[in-house]
Amino acid sequence: MQIIDGKAHALRLRAGIAQAVIARSAAGARAPALAVVLVGEDPASEVYVRNKTAACAQAGITSIEHRRDTTLTEADLLALVEQLNHDPAIDGILVQLPLPARIDSARVLAAIHPDKDVDGFHPVNVGRLASGLDGFVPCTPLGCLRLLEATLGDLAGAEALVIGRSNIVGRPMASLLVGASATVTVAHSRSRDLPALARRADIVVAAVGRPEMVRGTWLKPGCTVIDVGINRVPKESGPGTRLVGDVAFAEAADSAAHITPVPGGVGPMTIACLLENTLKAAARG
Ligand code: NAD
Repeated sequence: MQIIDGKAHALRLRAGIAQAVIARSAAGARAPALAVVLVGEDPASEVYVRNKTAACAQAGITSIEHRRDTTLTEADLLALVEQLNHDPAIDGILVQLPLPARIDSARVLAAIHPDKDVDGFHPVNVGRLASGLDGFVPCTPLGCLRLLEATLGDLAGAEALVIGRSNIVGRPMASLLVGASATVTVAHSRSRDLPALARRADIVVAAVGRPEMVRGTWLKPGCTVIDVGINRVPKESGPGTRLVGDVAFAEAADSAAHITPVPGGVGPMTIACLLENTLKAAARG
């Protein structure tokens, strides 16, 4: 069994992006620039934004934070997005989710110009992905695809099971796998007999948000498992918590040929793919 080292893959990808940024500046282009909008003080969002900002700096990408408190109105947020849409010094716009409940997230995401939509959540980019056209692809499933292709090479004809149908992970993951010519099944909370679906799959991507739900006995021997889940659970002994994925790792490691760990699997690739999308946005501009 091989553990897929997402951290190492992400470091390589980030080093390549940093090289490309240097080559751009040698050719006279300015550094790619990402605007990050953070509303409120959600602690997890604070950590994500800090990590994204640090990763940008390391790659030579300029990131500009726009912090607003929770009193911000939807109209003011839409006005900020509009201003960034028209700012020629900004290549990519990222609005950190979740937004306060009274703001309509879908409306805000749809206000971002599709060519600056480095998160790939705008309906135009969702449509481009579903139609097999070039556009921005959400960072987490893009990172999963990169890991799968680096591990397995050509995915054509592989039986793939995606568990979860969210707009952020499951659905775009399924589109990417279809684009890579895999045979794709999407399972969700209403699916029947998940173990039977998993037993057929050469590739299982779990994006559910339920700690260790996918058991080792469900898996086909020799399969590849991408565990997107990030779940905080109490430590088995002593105080405190630990992170686990959606897959029971120790059990799955007995059947799978390749598996991503949590942490250190998909998570680092998500940030690397955000940098990749920002570089792509700058190259288009
Ligand atoms: P979500 O809650 O939006 O979607 C969960 C999906 O799981 C839904 O489509 C639902 O139908 C399905 N589901 C729920 N119960 C199920 C069951 N019993 N059987 C089969 N399917 C079931 O979550 P999300 O945003 O897609 O995130 C999923 C997980 O991935 C979470 O743990 C999240 O923290 C993690 N995540 C990680 C990264 C990363 O960078 N590593 C990024 C995004 C999300």
